[in-house]
Amino acid sequence: MEEVVELLRQAATDRTPITCAGAQTSTTAASITDKGVLLSLRALDRISAIDERARTIKVGPGALVGEIKRSAATAGLLFAPDPTSEEESTIGGAIACNASGARTFKYGAARKHVQALKVVMANGELMEFRRTNLEKNTAGYALAHDPIDWFIGSEGTLGIVVEAELALLPLPAHVVGLAVFFRTEEEALRFVVATRESGTVAPRCIEYFDDQAIGIARTVAQGGMLPDGSTAMIYVEEEVGDDLDSTLGRWGELIESIAPDFDPLVFDGEARLREARKIRHSVPSTMNERGTRYRDAGGRKVSTDWAVPYHKVGEAIRTARAFAADRGVEQAVIYGHVGNGHPHQNFIARNARELATIEGVVEQTLKRVLALGGTVAAEHGIGKIKRRWLPLQMNGLQIAMMTAVKRELDPLGILAPGNIL
Ligand SMILES: Cc1cc2nc3c(=O)[nH]c(=O)nc-3n(C[C@H](O)[C@H](O)[C@H](O)COP(=O)(O)OP(=O)(O)OC[C@H]3O[C@@H](n4cnc5c(N)ncnc54)[C@H](O)[C@@H]3O)c2cc1C
Repeated sequence: MEEVVELLRQAATDRTPITCAGAQTSTTAASITDKGVLLSLRALDRISAIDERARTIKVGPGALVGEIKRSAATAGLLFAPDPTSEEESTIGGAIACNASGARTFKYGAARKHVQALKVVMANGELMEFRRTNLEKNTAGYALAHDPIDWFIGSEGTLGIVVEAELALLPLPAHVVGLAVFFRTEEEALRFVVATRESGTVAPRCIEYFDDQAIGIARTVAQGGMLPDGSTAMIYVEEEVGDDLDSTLGRWGELIESIAPDFDPLVFDGEARLREARKIRHSVPSTMNERGTRYRDAGGRKVSTDWAVPYHKVGEAIRTARAFAADRGVEQAVIYGHVGNGHPHQNFIARNARELATIEGVVEQTLKRVLALGGTVAAEHGIGKIKRRWLPLQMNGLQIAMMTAVKRELDPLGILAPGNIL
């Protein structure tokens, strides 16, 4: 911590840019730079004892999210944020990106679970920010109520997180997962809306796999567990109360009303849930590997991160697929957090020319997404790669307000130059 303070003091004196890196799993180039110093926070990975009465845990920014979850679980507690990359990404990165995951559907994104932060400011000053948790507050502008929120999601541009106090929840005693299979994508997306509006089930996640994503999942799933003939899958989890049969019965009725053709798969118990998680993770990691093969030719994976209100996700995916088809682009693999209206499209560009065409399709899709009331970036942040799309969503005044905050907290512009603004 002291070294970070010293480094920032020096950087402020000689105007050296400093970009933080956690585990560098960012998909937006936020943690790479060709300017100044790349500061790795990985070594600040301490996980302190849990305060069981307050239900909090103190951690260094370099601790892996998965490690924090395991530490919490030993005390019967849950650290809820669950980016799919939780076993390879740090809490500093999760805070800086306001990361989320499948269970964000129930628990909210990282922001909600950050209680206090120690931050090294651009001038080298070490400051502490604690969430107020006031139920009522009319003192001044809302943007100044909880300064801790300036740093969460700021992608390393406003300060460097050197310690975090995280809020924990009681660990649910019993969780069951269900994989539900459909003949068509349209049927699956109708099921999402029905699930959200049923009032009979209480999922903590609603995840989508299209036919190509199922194809990838088949390569890691245990033999024959995904049925032939289905072209779409929805994976849900619910925390079971006293009675598993009643939980499964409620889901059975809902599934029967929309997708009676295939029996759902049940993932009951910790080992089976881990298996489901591994299957889910296989999709983005396989697509990353595929994209990496084309780097030398100027290609890469292009991942969208847009989201729309959940009941418009069917329309958004239909339109996105049509835009790709119109320009002769191979259909993306589509998977992810449809319960929050937030599927990812993963395209593979094999060279620079394909990359330009795909980015054109993505931009066209983002304009449609915004017209549907959505966002261009729901969990990965803006970084450098998506910066040009921010003005599609934010007007000049919003960008000017963010620039004013940046200027106030980092007047020399030395923190993570090129991210967001
Ligand atoms: C296979 C795969 C799956 C993914 N799934 C998800 C997902 O489900 N949900 C999701 O939200 N994201 C996901 N991501 C994106 C990424 O993993 C997350 O954004 C993650 O939180 C980044 O953590 P990191 O430690 O790798 O951070 P890095 O990539 O190292 O950094 C990310 C940003 O945080 C800043 N930063 C890092 N540490 C600090 C610090 N201590 N103080 C200030 N700024 C800091 C960096 O400057 C950068 O701007 C996925 C990525 C991959 C490769």
